[in-house]
Amino acid sequence: MVETASPPTRAMERYEAIIGIEVHCQLKTTSKMFCSCSTAYDGAPPNTHVCPVCLGLPGALPVINRRAVEHVLATGLAIESNVPEATRWDRKNYFYPDLPKGYQISQYDLPLASQGRLTFDTSDGPFTVDITRAHLEEDTAKLVHGDGVSLVDFNRSGAPLMEVVTEPVIRTAEQARRYAEELQLLLRSIGASDADMERGQMRVEANVSLRLRGTEPFGTRIEVKNMNSFRAVERAIGYEIERQARALDAGEPVLQETRGWSEERGETYRMRVKETSDDYRYFPEPDLPPLHLDATWLASIRADLPELPGAKRARYRDLLGLSAYDAAVLVADPDASTVFEATMAADATIPAKVAANWVTGDFLRLRNASPSGVSIDAEELAAIIVAVDAGTISRANGREVLEAHVSTGEGAAAIIANRGLSQISDAGALGVIVDEVLAANPAAVADYRAGKDQAVGFLIGQVMKATKGQANAALAGDAVRARLADGGARED
Ligand SMILES: [Zn+2]
Repeated sequence: MVETASPPTRAMERYEAIIGIEVHCQLKTTSKMFCSCSTAYDGAPPNTHVCPVCLGLPGALPVINRRAVEHVLATGLAIESNVPEATRWDRKNYFYPDLPKGYQISQYDLPLASQGRLTFDTSDGPFTVDITRAHLEEDTAKLVHGDGVSLVDFNRSGAPLMEVVTEPVIRTAEQARRYAEELQLLLRSIGASDADMERGQMRVEANVSLRLRGTEPFGTRIEVKNMNSFRAVERAIGYEIERQARALDAGEPVLQETRGWSEERGETYRMRVKETSDDYRYFPEPDLPPLHLDATWLASIRADLPELPGAKRARYRDLLGLSAYDAAVLVADPDASTVFEATMAADATIPAKVAANWVTGDFLRLRNASPSGVSIDAEELAAIIVAVDAGTISRANGREVLEAHVSTGEGAAAIIANRGLSQISDAGALGVIVDEVLAANPAAVADYRAGKDQAVGFLIGQVMKATKGQANAALAGDAVRARLADGGARED
């Protein structure tokens, strides 16, 4: 969804920000990357989802998880990237307590996907981010720091992890946030990852540097970590741009370092200074065979891809005539687009804009108010929309019928009948009531004749009161005005 961007700051007038984003996301598989341990370790006691392979014990042999490979290939196809004919795994060597083998199995020069792109809307219009690569690797264990001790939980060790790296083509904090949002939507829509940032299933890191506008060379790159929400991504990058601009203006050197984002303080802080570039001494993983990606396999993965978010938004806009805003709201929420499409399918006479209003307004309000979600029958929503459109019930009563349907599961027709919500839209029946009201309110009729137009509103109110709100308000207004124009209540 497009929000208004923060106003350009003075820093952005002098400097141009060069931003690249790295995203790590946990792939949706039932077992780990190279062993059969379950990935359902969320909330489990520490070190209960482990085996010799994911503990990194000597002599244990890894076996490739086919589903994880398919998720990365599906992502690669969805971002229009190149897929090599064959790939392999490489060892990335470094020492850290969360990596007992002393190396991580990753991909170096033959990623599963390269040279892709992702397009999304921003407050300045559509923007395309070039994606350098998407590759597959294993997650590390998790360090838990407490009272003077650090503990290692290996449940996460060896979980399949996809890394997606962009070219340094992002220029604003808003573009960075929108890219991360669109990538999450894409990964969820193809079922590759749940990509929940707060649960660590999607981890976003940004490389940020500044250069004077009109110059070519890149400035010193700062890596920003610990951004646990989309809002944090935008705020942290915005903060970092301002911080670097202040340093450059003051003639202070910008150090190559890794900085964390503190949500409480609203600022980035130094984690470590990088004095040398990392040398991981990659070499091909000797325990895993190269992987051939044959065309039939790729074709079946491509055939299984659903309609992607960008294509769906374009279809809603261009074929169904929805606004860019409505299309974005519907596509950003899988429940909303499912209900929208099912409602349209249930009754072809409903205009797309009308169905979109009901779904983005009434349905999402009810759904968001219920943490466990709501169940809605699109056939019933279609029946409600048609009843409102035909004047059988008012718009306000339509909302009431929808609420009753969602909470009781009862059908629209039964709710309308049981609650007596049908409007009086019959001109003859309404005419009789209007005549009675005018006859009973001679003073108001006289006021109207004396030129007091507001008397009409009073009389319409009396008609609504006489029908207990069941008169079709628009028709009642027309009938009152027509009778007054005729000379008021008949005097027979
Ligand atoms: Zn294991």
